[in-house]
Amino acid sequence: MSKNGNSSFMCPWTSNSEKKKKFLIGNLENKGNIERKLYSLSYSVLDNSTENELFVQKIHKANVYMLEQTYIQWKVLWETHDVRNQCQCIFPMKSVIYLQPLGQFPDFVLRYTFHLGNTEMDLLTLLREFAQIYFLGFDVKICLPLLKDSEHSGLKSRVHSVTGQKQFLSSSFFPFLRKKLPKDGYCILGITWTDLYPAEDLNFSLGESSFQHKSGIFCFGRFEPLSFQAGQPMCDIMEVDESLIWKMLKVTVHETCHLFGLMHCEIYSCLMNNSTSLEEAMMQPIFLCPVCLHKLQKACKFSLHMRYNRLHQFFSVLQDSLPYYKFRDSRDWLMQCLEFITEDERTLL
Ligand SMILES: [Zn+2]
Ligand SMILES: [Zn+2]
Repeated sequence: MSKNGNSSFMCPWTSNSEKKKKFLIGNLENKGNIERKLYSLSYSVLDNSTENELFVQKIHKANVYMLEQTYIQWKVLWETHDVRNQCQCIFPMKSVIYLQPLGQFPDFVLRYTFHLGNTEMDLLTLLREFAQIYFLGFDVKICLPLLKDSEHSGLKSRVHSVTGQKQFLSSSFFPFLRKKLPKDGYCILGITWTDLYPAEDLNFSLGESSFQHKSGIFCFGRFEPLSFQAGQPMCDIMEVDESLIWKMLKVTVHETCHLFGLMHCEIYSCLMNNSTSLEEAMMQPIFLCPVCLHKLQKACKFSLHMRYNRLHQFFSVLQDSLPYYKFRDSRDWLMQCLEFITEDERTLL
């Protein structure tokens, strides 16, 4: 969707600030106090009023009709393409997000386990636990791994001319995974150790998703090849550490949000920001801005309060188990957010 393409067809609304607000974040009149309070923070993007402490704006005094993707733009896409909304009587059970391991994984990844609170789990289970809370209202299940090359022989691949590494073309996974989607599945996200590339003229991709196919893929096997800067050694991942876990959590939910029709966000610092490097992607937040969150809430139908509470519990336990500043900052941000959305109730007590 081009920025220029959006500017003219909404002209009748441009003089009305209420309609601009609704185009940005949707109609908040029938929302509960918590939703109204959090989502109306987005109004500051339109009128340049004071920024809040929870969400960092990337733009100021925006022309809402030049933005992509506002809540209303997303809602049109969602209601047009999502079969769950159109045919609930025919497809009542499509409420599972599937994670599909693909290809070979090194032993140190397969063997890795740690205790999250009292529960011992592996990496995939941790991802499942996190996605289960992030997309509250949907179930998240792990498919049986497709480990043999013969099980995914139809995928397009190449050997990178500089690194000598095998790479899969990300988009070739979309129709392949779509066929693997179980009947109760809403979408399927492949997880691979093998390198990905998005197009012939590009080097490397962390992941890519197709809303149309309801399938996506992400790779956590390598950091960006340093060897593209001449003389630098390759920098493959050799152990599971906190930064790898952070990367996996973040890319899993980013790619899955694409499968709910969320496009890249240019309004706030947000999970859905586009990134041109791994370093940039890892610096971006793991949480959604108000505009993107409203989209996901509409799709998943979760309670904001319950979801923030459970995310806070998740990062508290994760930080206790595997101390890391990103987990600690996430936990603290969530507490700040919970205090903000409940402060009116607490004042009344
Ligand atoms: Zn993306
Ligand atoms: Zn956003």
